[in-house]
Amino acid sequence: MAEPLTIVSVSLNAAGFIKKYWKQVLICLFIISIIPALIITAVINILFPQVSKEEFNIYKNLTAKTGINWYSFMAYDTVRLDNYLKENNPDESVFDLLRVRFKEYEIIETEKQITKIVDGKKVTETITQKEYKVIRELEIHGYGPIKNLLLSLNYFSAEENMSVKEVTDFFTILDKKEEYEIETSILTDVDITEDFDDNHKQWYFALSEILPLIDPTAEFDPDEYIIPELSSNPSIPSIWPTQGIITSEFGENRIAHIHEGIDIANIISTPIYATADGTVIAVGSSGNFGKRIMIYHGTDESGTTYVTIYAHLSQFKVNVGDKITQGALVALMGNTGYSTGPHLHYEIRLNSMPINPRYFLQ
Ligand SMILES: [Zn+2]
Repeated sequence: MAEPLTIVSVSLNAAGFIKKYWKQVLICLFIISIIPALIITAVINILFPQVSKEEFNIYKNLTAKTGINWYSFMAYDTVRLDNYLKENNPDESVFDLLRVRFKEYEIIETEKQITKIVDGKKVTETITQKEYKVIRELEIHGYGPIKNLLLSLNYFSAEENMSVKEVTDFFTILDKKEEYEIETSILTDVDITEDFDDNHKQWYFALSEILPLIDPTAEFDPDEYIIPELSSNPSIPSIWPTQGIITSEFGENRIAHIHEGIDIANIISTPIYATADGTVIAVGSSGNFGKRIMIYHGTDESGTTYVTIYAHLSQFKVNVGDKITQGALVALMGNTGYSTGPHLHYEIRLNSMPINPRYFLQ
């Protein structure tokens, strides 16, 4: 056991050390305290890679004017890169969605003499016959093959300036020439997913439905959102999300639109529950919806994706990325957004189409 004198001297030494090096000590304490937060952030980023608003804008801008759905394109990249969109290069991968059918002809002209009888007289005429010989025939998609084709056609801006719009315009002009036959088209969902396994196909179709819903660059953008992993056994939303009085049914006519959910009124802070198991994919304020959350419940074998929306909330009880079970408390009722009194606006979306929640309620 230490003598009391020793303890006092140790304490004095420690106090002296802190007095002398207090700045360094504070810095060390600060670093130690933020390490857990950094680790948690890193883990969340690995498990639920979040994609910035800028990223959504990149996909939208690249597809504007080309006839490509930005969400098909973004879903394609997400699935192709296994949700690791940080490794994407959309300027190039957008060409994976463009198909070019190309034919080049050599035109061989031959002169031929023909004899006709005009007004009882023999007349000899020389006519030119054209023969079209195919010298090149291709059906390609993807950045590399399309770039090689462009270079072979002396499209010199291919090196640094290659956008889908410019490339298709160039091919359209070339197609008018006699020696070329060029047709460009955007790949269909079936073609895009041809090389994916069943799981990735299902994920692609799920994301094509979910991305427009969580779009942070849209009019009603959520504050926080994630692009979810595929959940292949959907949990069906089958319980009531809260208690109260139904004040508006699904499908009622409103000014300029039809009511896409069901309204349940009660007092502020009435608990609101998840109607099925799922992953929280969007949390935040969103225009007329006010504070709202969105839960992804999974995608079935036929490709139907289930999402529920809870709007006009006063408080959130979950974060994006949270995995929740049916009946879990997710929020409290409120009067935020375009709302004339405390109520919950509840929606069920099947492949982003609003469906009457009553069909699912027990
Ligand atoms: Zn409503």
